[in-house]
Amino acid sequence: MSDGSDIDPEAVRAALIARREGLLRLVGSSAEARRTVVLDQSRVGRLSRMDALQSQAMAVETDRRRKVELQQIEAALGRIEDGDYGTCAGCGEAIARKRLALNPTTPVCIDCAQSAGR
Ligand SMILES: [Zn+2]
Repeated sequence: MSDGSDIDPEAVRAALIARREGLLRLVGSSAEARRTVVLDQSRVGRLSRMDALQSQAMAVETDRRRKVELQQIEAALGRIEDGDYGTCAGCGEAIARKRLALNPTTPVCIDCAQSAGR
């Protein structure tokens, strides 16, 4: 990559691993939250049960997004291992540094992301 001099793969790797640790802890605790709703269901009133189900649905969605992010982190760590980090998986061009700063796990440049509808 031609303009990759300001990217430090080791720093990115350390940040991704730290983020992964945090996510793994959160995934564990939200599994706990979902179980609690099920156990309490018979004891709560109709409205608060709806609240509980709503927050359960939110917990499930949050959990799903965390697992997607974990997969993205694993993939990014793999690209660092392979020396491909910061290179677009779609067109092979360097990914803009600003884009990587905002989303360190993105595998594609802005042009490829937009043409893929993401
Ligand atoms: Zn691209």
